[in-house]
Amino acid sequence: MAGRGYRTEAVVLRSLRFGEADRILHLYTHDRGRVSAIAKGVRRARSRFGGRLEPFFRLRIELHEGRGELLTVTGAQTVEGHVGLRGDARALDAAARACDAVGRLFETSEPHPGVFNLLCRKLYLLDQHPASATRAAALAFRLKLLLAAGLAPQLGACAECGEREHLVGFSGAAGGVVCGACEGASFPLGEEAYRFMTGALGRALTEAPDASDRALGQVERAISATLEHHAHLRLIPAVGRLG
Ligand SMILES: [Zn+2]
Repeated sequence: MAGRGYRTEAVVLRSLRFGEADRILHLYTHDRGRVSAIAKGVRRARSRFGGRLEPFFRLRIELHEGRGELLTVTGAQTVEGHVGLRGDARALDAAARACDAVGRLFETSEPHPGVFNLLCRKLYLLDQHPASATRAAALAFRLKLLLAAGLAPQLGACAECGEREHLVGFSGAAGGVVCGACEGASFPLGEEAYRFMTGALGRALTEAPDASDRALGQVERAISATLEHHAHLRLIPAVGRLG
């Protein structure tokens, strides 16, 4: 084949049926950010790839660059299959939402190894502790993604005037918390939501704080407002309705 090949680690974000026996994969790679690749013949019973080109697999992968944007998968070995999370509906749903958020926020081939590592840690955590599939954990993950994307909300002082006291609201347009005098275009952000955001940004995923539903609702709204204003992006809700 003409063109060039390279190897990198990758997480399968999505895997779509294509044609008779192929799959199109959306991959988040360590070295090349988000890429799409075709895996030929993968749906045949005797494919050399086996079942490993499925969502949430962490792979050591060989990709071949042709003329178009679509790469071709020429080899794949499993690093982590994440069997544990596949047996738990909530963990599976949380993994899908985590992968979706990464794919939307980091949709180019610009490499962000930190994002790759964060996604791997998130999937590992869901795999080892399916009960960690909480809304708080999902929002802590999203806050860390915002930080990696350079979109972390300003939390230390009013994003409009710099005031450090009486921070009562959040403004997506201003990019952070705002004080009582600047609260015009903001919505209320309580003390508990504020503490959750600073805690989640300052700690490891495994030590993410928890908060009440009310506070988490404010946090999710703050994340959404930040993304809409600064990235023109809307994410699916952090958790689904699985009962
Ligand atoms: Zn202010």
